[in-house]
Amino acid sequence: AHLDRIAAVDGEVHAFLQVDGDGALAQAGDSDERRRAGNAQSRLDGVPIAVKDVLATRGLPTTCGSRILEGWVPPYDATVVARLRAAGLPILGKTNMDEFAMGSSTEHSAYGPTHNPWDLDRIPGGSGGGSAAAVAAFEAPLAIGTDTGGSIRQPGAVTGTVGVKPTYGGVSRYGLVALANSLDQAGPVTRTVLDAALLHELIGGHDPLDSTSIDQPLPGLVAAAEQGVTGDLSGVTIGVVTELGGPGSAEGYQAGVLERFQESVDLMVDAGAKVVEVSCPSFVHALAAYYLILPAEASSNLAKFDAMRYGLRVLPEGVESPSAEEVMRATRDAGFGDEVKRRIILGTYALSSGYYDAYYGQAQKVRTLITRDFEQAFSQADVLVSPTAPTTAFKLGEKLDDPLAMYLNDLATIPANLAGVPGISVPSGLAEEDGLPTGVQILAPALADDRVYRVGAALE
Ligand code: GLN
Repeated sequence: AHLDRIAAVDGEVHAFLQVDGDGALAQAGDSDERRRAGNAQSRLDGVPIAVKDVLATRGLPTTCGSRILEGWVPPYDATVVARLRAAGLPILGKTNMDEFAMGSSTEHSAYGPTHNPWDLDRIPGGSGGGSAAAVAAFEAPLAIGTDTGGSIRQPGAVTGTVGVKPTYGGVSRYGLVALANSLDQAGPVTRTVLDAALLHELIGGHDPLDSTSIDQPLPGLVAAAEQGVTGDLSGVTIGVVTELGGPGSAEGYQAGVLERFQESVDLMVDAGAKVVEVSCPSFVHALAAYYLILPAEASSNLAKFDAMRYGLRVLPEGVESPSAEEVMRATRDAGFGDEVKRRIILGTYALSSGYYDAYYGQAQKVRTLITRDFEQAFSQADVLVSPTAPTTAFKLGEKLDDPLAMYLNDLATIPANLAGVPGISVPSGLAEEDGLPTGVQILAPALADDRVYRVGAALE
């Protein structure tokens, strides 16, 4: 049914870079046999899933939305993918994304943009717009995304889907092509909070192949979501963050987004939660710090695309026996898009001697201050809430020539990545002025992912 749905709508939505119909059907057949024999390998055995094209899939091309990886077929599975296969989830295919996960609209994909199923002239968010659009358009019931600065949560908000960024280290990064190692985290993209909890429990937990993976059991996420679904939040204190669309800091936020956010807070109060206002003064510098730390790490990670090891190799024109350096230059020139080049330049500049302390070093200090703000805020509240994205989905092309306007979409999502804390975006209804989806973000302390599920499920 999902393959039929993909055949019917993906020509317009373009959520997928690649569909593996034969593979998915074979896996579904195996699952069917297991279920009939009473041998289901997990509660999601047989439920198909789409995977963002930044996770290595054995035998299936993995492009990261970039020309430079065109034709590369990984010889191994990312741990997340291996766990999906082991649990019996048929993999429908790989979803579109901004090149190397840099962007907020999926327009930076080298293979053309994804369209928002709510309005095909609008963006589906990014970088994981393909995964969010696939789930929103009923092409897949579940998907995997990755979130370095908001790429699971912001697409969730603008497509009316649920997206979770787990605690840093809670889900293995092995086989996830790194954008920024200290920020990246894979997580669930679903239509309900309970689905996300089921998927998170399946992909999460310690992995010896990832040195940053946390070696302790996950809290009970499904149990927390089931508790939340009852709609009782008594005993929970919710902190509204002043600097993230709280009273007096509404600049840049769309009126209809703020209205829906306030409604969500009211619903939490109706469910028995107590609300306090908390201030996180360093959050106003999060975007600036992120756009130094991320390009620094990304420029270093992308150095491995040297035309020798993976995918594309372009020979310089008119050079008889080009040197390795000339081949590398021609390949990187042709293989990387503008946004990737912009960030490589920013990152190498920020790391260069003489500037390192002034830029990268300062950004790391701001990062510490943001972590302290979180600690302070979580001493007053169990979870923090804000609108996930400042506006609803904007028109395709609207911000393409204005990188700073594009970066501002992640204002509210970036602090969580800098501090490593978990967050969820849950649909909060349609904005009055344009009838498009909005999302509410719920953040919890590191390792307390269960709280985002409890509070998120109470809103459904
Ligand atoms: N939009 C942000 C960026 O461009 C977030 C990306 C992400 O989470 N992968 O960096």
